[in-house]
Amino acid sequence: MNVYDSEIIAALLQEKGLEEVTSPEKADVVLLNTCSVRELAEQKIHTRLGQLRIIQETTNPTMIMGVVGCMAQNLKKSLLQKKPYITFILGPDSYRNIPKILTSNRTSSRVIDTHLSSMELYDGLFPARHEGINAWISISRGCDKFCTYCIVPYTRGRERSRSSESILQEAKRAIDKGFVEITLLGQNVNSYRSSSGGFSELLLQLAQLSGLKRLRYTSPHPQDMNDDVIAVHKDYYPVVCDHIHLPLQSGSNSILKAMNRTYTWEHYLSLVEKIRSAVPTMSITTDMIVGFPGETEKDYEDTLDMMEKVRFDAAFMFKYSPRPGTKAAILVDTVPEDVKSVRLNRMIRLQNKHTLEKNQALIGKKVEILVEKESTKNPYEMMGRTSTNKIVIFPALKVKPKDLITRTITDAQGVTLFSKP
Ligand code: SAH
Ligand code: SF4
Repeated sequence: MNVYDSEIIAALLQEKGLEEVTSPEKADVVLLNTCSVRELAEQKIHTRLGQLRIIQETTNPTMIMGVVGCMAQNLKKSLLQKKPYITFILGPDSYRNIPKILTSNRTSSRVIDTHLSSMELYDGLFPARHEGINAWISISRGCDKFCTYCIVPYTRGRERSRSSESILQEAKRAIDKGFVEITLLGQNVNSYRSSSGGFSELLLQLAQLSGLKRLRYTSPHPQDMNDDVIAVHKDYYPVVCDHIHLPLQSGSNSILKAMNRTYTWEHYLSLVEKIRSAVPTMSITTDMIVGFPGETEKDYEDTLDMMEKVRFDAAFMFKYSPRPGTKAAILVDTVPEDVKSVRLNRMIRLQNKHTLEKNQALIGKKVEILVEKESTKNPYEMMGRTSTNKIVIFPALKVKPKDLITRTITDAQGVTLFSKP
């Protein structure tokens, strides 16, 4: 989402005549597009701001610094007060102000705009993407789910969807520019709603665009995953990829309830079964949180048990991080930090085992690979991705980026697949 937003911001800056440079030492303007989802993300920005401050003081005194995105929205005035060298603070709905700010009197005025809009969709702007394989396209903004641990509904505001015409237009333009894969983005991508239908209708329209080799999306919410979306996966494979990233968060119903996730593990499991029976090759990945307030050893064991039941292809796993202002932040953080670490590490070990076993099961099987680039380790090898979103390394013979090739998997190590001659 932030990559896409940065491309929108870059487009606004380019319209203004600014060009991208490769280092802050050479920059007139440095914008940090930020995330607040966990405390660690915010800490990284504080560190980066400190480094930029040194560059400003030593080598680039006229550099203008702005903080934009969720952390700007979240910390607002306190950022401006504590960091006098920041010139402007803009929340996720205020990027259209950037050109105006840059032409105004920069030295005397500092600007803060964290007004959340119920309408801003950045329609009509074509993101300044770097050439590549995949184009991100945001189809909705904001979130109304209010999971109790999550800051997103507060930093990104109310959920709203773009029109399907605008999305289709952007997709066609991206394909004309040479992108062969599209990934649709939304905090709840599958609660998309427009006058011409819901998420499944949108997927169906996009899947039929000529020149598009692969269509992906992230992240859907289990509550909004319906039969129509699953049917589009089945009917439009291989354009619609056989991968769904379906965040589970916890395998304990009492924790899911306390998180306000609005589904039970039984419902989630039945969804997984439905998806796999429609598309047997489907890879399912997830997000997990350990150490939510009140998570007992039993809740945690139930979560690992659920991971055994589902056997995810991969997972992003996090320690619960209290976010001030959210409902969960007022609950007592009952799980001590060292227990969170132990739980997280054990969960990662279990997931690594599942990932490897799933990947080893592909040895001897033929898979379709979208070629991406030269391998970083060996110029005689290239890397690409399966439709299931797994990385494969293969010989660089007679292939070029954006080719779709079919190869037999010969080995699996860690998260990577190999196809040797
Ligand atoms: N809208 C998406 C993703 C939101 S943020 C969704 O609902 O799935 C990405 C992930 O960060 C979440 O899925 C969750 O696992 C994690 N996350 C969000 N808030 C968190 C918090 N306070 N502490 C730890 N992890 C968090
Ligand atoms: Fe956050 Fe929940 Fe919305 Fe995802 S669905 S962005 S986790 S509130």
